[in-house]
Amino acid sequence: MKRIGVLTSGGDAPGMNACLRAVVRTAKARGLEVWGIEKGYTGMLEDLIRPLEARDMANIIQRGGTVLKTGRCLEFLKPEYRAQAAEKLKAKNIDGVVCIGGDGSFRGAMALWREHQIPVVGAPGTIDNDLFGTDVTIGFDTAVNTALSAIDKIRDTADSHDRLFIVEVMGRNSGHIASYVGLACGAEEVFTPEINTTVDKAVDKILEAQKKGKKSSIIVTAEGQKPGRAYDLAEAIRKKTGIDAKVCILGHIQRGGSPTASDRIIASRMGSAAVDALIKGEHDVMIGIEKNDLRSVPFELATQRDKKTSLDFVKLSNLLAF
Ligand code: ADP
Repeated sequence: MKRIGVLTSGGDAPGMNACLRAVVRTAKARGLEVWGIEKGYTGMLEDLIRPLEARDMANIIQRGGTVLKTGRCLEFLKPEYRAQAAEKLKAKNIDGVVCIGGDGSFRGAMALWREHQIPVVGAPGTIDNDLFGTDVTIGFDTAVNTALSAIDKIRDTADSHDRLFIVEVMGRNSGHIASYVGLACGAEEVFTPEINTTVDKAVDKILEAQKKGKKSSIIVTAEGQKPGRAYDLAEAIRKKTGIDAKVCILGHIQRGGSPTASDRIIASRMGSAAVDALIKGEHDVMIGIEKNDLRSVPFELATQRDKKTSLDFVKLSNLLAF
């Protein structure tokens, strides 16, 4: 292996830059050349590929987003476009690739190996923490902390006005962010896509809490929670009880910002290990961290197995909201 490529792909996540820095500098330390592929798979297809040097990585460990840019590339879902992208890599003598991204990006990476024998090793860069085989993903800790600091501020208003707030955090298919944030902010109720809670149950809890003397409450919901989005839930509560619940959708602020120490550390470890795995001849694997140990997890497992939201966190959150 003489020359490797690196890309950031799919949704951006804080810590992607720290991972990129680790990939480039580890590769250089091992005597490899590194080429950066801009804008995810779009850049692979459009030949936006350029050499990266160790010095190009100066001063990025603390920055959110990705200096390589990222992208969603619909063409890459089709084999004929993947063949064109593979040709671009082969023309540049790129022997292997590190892909920093989420499950969609890893499905693309699997196809590159299956169809064109281009070895790809992944580093899990996604705020959703929804990849099987790793306790944490790059960006998750920062997203949780960003949401938490926003909710702490909202609680000041909720408390001052004796109000009920419904705060929606990211998570279309998983409640990882909601369950962590819910426990950490002392939420009165947490709704995630995996929990079949009903509006009736939530209302009962709010009324019970009010009887006990609670005047303000925070409900944390994930985007994909049942039943419906935050505004639907607020409307249902208003209809049932007359309580005017305020809604706050945190949205994209959860993606940005300077990565936490924890995200910078896992990003550095995973990025460096991804390069070493490529050198060892590995492919079709993601670098995960379980019980603080690095491991290679086949993409197939990482993307297809369901990583369960920690419902224990939700239970504990409910117990402590008493
Ligand atoms: P993430 O990697 O954060 O999950 P996406 O799901 O948007 O983000 O995937 C990023 C990109 O990966 C897509 O825009 C597409 O180019 C590629 N991709 C996603 N799914 C597949 C697939 N099944 N086959 C090939 N490429 C895919």
